[in-house]
Amino acid sequence: MRINTFTLRRCVAALGLLAASLTGQAAEPWFEKFKAEASPQQLYQFLYAMPKGGDLHHHLTGAGLAEWWWDEAIAQQRNGYTYYTKVRINNCAAYGTNEYSFAPYLILFRNIQGSTYAGLSDCEKGEYKRLQDLDSTERQAWLDSIRLDKPYEGRNEFFGRHWERLNDIARNPHIVAEILYRNMQAFGHENLLYLETQEGADHTLKADGSEYSEDEVVAMYSRRIAAPDAKATGVTVRFQSSILRFLPNAEDDLRHLYAFTDAHRELYVGVNMVGREDDDKGHPLRFLPTLRELRLRYPDIALSIHAGEVDEPNTHIRDTLLLGATRIGHGVNLISDPDTMLRMQHGPYLVEINLISNLLLEYVRDYRQHPFPEYLRTGIPVALSTDDRGMWDSNMTDEFFVAVREFNLSWEEIVQLGRNSLIHSFVQAPVKQRLLAEYDARIARYAAQFQKQGMAAIKDVQPVSYSFTCKRYQLCLPRQ
Ligand SMILES: [Zn+2]
Repeated sequence: MRINTFTLRRCVAALGLLAASLTGQAAEPWFEKFKAEASPQQLYQFLYAMPKGGDLHHHLTGAGLAEWWWDEAIAQQRNGYTYYTKVRINNCAAYGTNEYSFAPYLILFRNIQGSTYAGLSDCEKGEYKRLQDLDSTERQAWLDSIRLDKPYEGRNEFFGRHWERLNDIARNPHIVAEILYRNMQAFGHENLLYLETQEGADHTLKADGSEYSEDEVVAMYSRRIAAPDAKATGVTVRFQSSILRFLPNAEDDLRHLYAFTDAHRELYVGVNMVGREDDDKGHPLRFLPTLRELRLRYPDIALSIHAGEVDEPNTHIRDTLLLGATRIGHGVNLISDPDTMLRMQHGPYLVEINLISNLLLEYVRDYRQHPFPEYLRTGIPVALSTDDRGMWDSNMTDEFFVAVREFNLSWEEIVQLGRNSLIHSFVQAPVKQRLLAEYDARIARYAAQFQKQGMAAIKDVQPVSYSFTCKRYQLCLPRQ
């Protein structure tokens, strides 16, 4: 009898919730009016100043703007590093070089540090220049070489060129720590509260070419986010570690990551699997036995796993839920798997949506093909995130701008996206409660103030934007 009463109460409560979401009480009129009347620039300014929750899908070495990499690489003289980049090809290598490796020979603007340069032949040394010696044309080309700035650059350029070019620069933990700080600073200006970034602590380089220990690197990152200037950004940061899923030894890497993440739980709150999914060497079920083995030993390691970032319909998302993931990165092809969609509606799983990434890497041709509104409006928990914003030359506001422009988000939906990003974050529970309370208070205050004063409430806000919105929406604002 008690069970019946309880069940009945739950049903009534659920019906109430359903009614609230279906009766069209959505669409706070003030926001509808604002959308109808605002210029693109005013909408951008509103979204820039608006408090945001978390960015849950963020690759740290993909999140450096080209200018940041440049500044920080040059500044590394202070730690004894000098960087060289390849500006010409003198046919120094024999014929038949491996252009499919991580170190292709026929690639310009590949960056190496002094210790690597010292080991080159004289012929190859003649192909490289110190960064600070580039002329202005070379410098511009260097900057453009690590962002998707041309119409023909897409998935292959991104997966097969950008990381190969960054190379040694992205293995310097001093630089990576500063790229993190600059993200915190920029996100702080956008009023983002929380950042969960993906970056490991292995395979880093000292100036002499030897490696730092992982503990040294974790200490370096922890110190950086605890420094007064980083704290002043107001952005709370946690890390995820990730494996490259299609490598032959990926199972061993996963074992290592579990041990590493377990040993650094204050900073590292989850494990991820990355790498292009159309390489089916990294298919999800490959990792089921290893994860089951690891779950014999390690309590409560949260999993967010890339899945469904692929063109073909398949069951990768269902398989990834079976792996134990509670968050799915991208989920573009979930739309082709109705059973799994049904399972995820009003469920405990979140899909991390990356609107700009999916367009630039050609998983959708235009936004009318993007499944985000279908997920959002059928009750699948979703949040917006930036993925590799440095390489898209974009920011978090851009993701909201795309979402509002292309899918006419209501105010309630915007707030739900912000709340979802904190509710589903892997940050420790007390911090999550604090962030959620702060978000609720700030977003309510923001809405109230805007309703009272309109644009006057944010007249002093100077939004920063990059080339993505300029090219796609002809909204060209200062970069800083
Ligand atoms: Zn990603």
